[in-house]
Amino acid sequence: HGAIAFKDVHFAYDAARPILKGISFEVPAGKTVAVVGPSGAGKSTLSRLLYRFYDVQRGSITVDGQDVGDVTQKSLRAAIGMVPQDTVLFNDTIAYNIRYGRMAASDSEVEAAAEAAQIADFIRGLPEGYRAMVGERGLKLSGGEKQRVAIARTILKAPPILILDEATSALDTKTEQEIQAALDVVSRNRTTLVIAHRLSTVINADEIIVLKDGVIAERGTHGELIDRD
Ligand code: ADP
Ligand code: ADP
Repeated sequence: HGAIAFKDVHFAYDAARPILKGISFEVPAGKTVAVVGPSGAGKSTLSRLLYRFYDVQRGSITVDGQDVGDVTQKSLRAAIGMVPQDTVLFNDTIAYNIRYGRMAASDSEVEAAAEAAQIADFIRGLPEGYRAMVGERGLKLSGGEKQRVAIARTILKAPPILILDEATSALDTKTEQEIQAALDVVSRNRTTLVIAHRLSTVINADEIIVLKDGVIAERGTHGELIDRD
């Protein structure tokens, strides 16, 4: 479940400058749809509207047929896992950061999620293991390590919907491939909205939406879009 439908979505931060001018597409339950386009095209704005940081000004966004405006923000956010470009971790333990959003989780659940996200090896090398502090007074994690913590958190939360907002674009090529492989596992059978700026990073998406100047300029599979170029 978790089918998402954007219908004629309009949005402007500033009325004089519309960002989204009638966007319609669906993410069928369990499928992955990628939104690509140049910087400033409004890709992240789409994910912020789905997450209800802002409300649409015309049109609608529904999840399983229900308008997101009619769902409490709490239950909506419980249904959505978000991996942003730069994960900001709390100045607390790795375990706390993995538990964030699921604070009642047990240590064994945290460990199982960490195993699935392949961060267990990294954690075993730390003197305090899962209790190691990160952030200002603790360890400084690399971009890839932070993304793995974010992925472990998502695995533990197990939301039906996943938003990957440029989740690998701040990483070097080798780390990007490792994190992409982990994300492919997490997004399998989950309704996934991927935000990316390059077509080459969303080859496996069921559909790709190309956003330009506030409208959908093109849509199709990676193969179809490449053929047209
Ligand atoms: P993308 O993700 O495609 O790079 P965004 O959705 O982040 O684009 O932004 C689309 C446009 O909206 C950009 O021109 C950006 O400057 C503008 N914008 C983004 N956030 C805000 C905001 N909070 N207030 C005003 N303008 C914003
Ligand atoms: P919101 O508060 O708008 O619902 P979230 O709580 O989901 O958004 O936070 C989005 C991301 O920002 C999370 O991944 C979380 O790690 C990070 N975050 C939120 N608040 C803090 C904070 N006080 N310190 C560090 N990171 C934070």
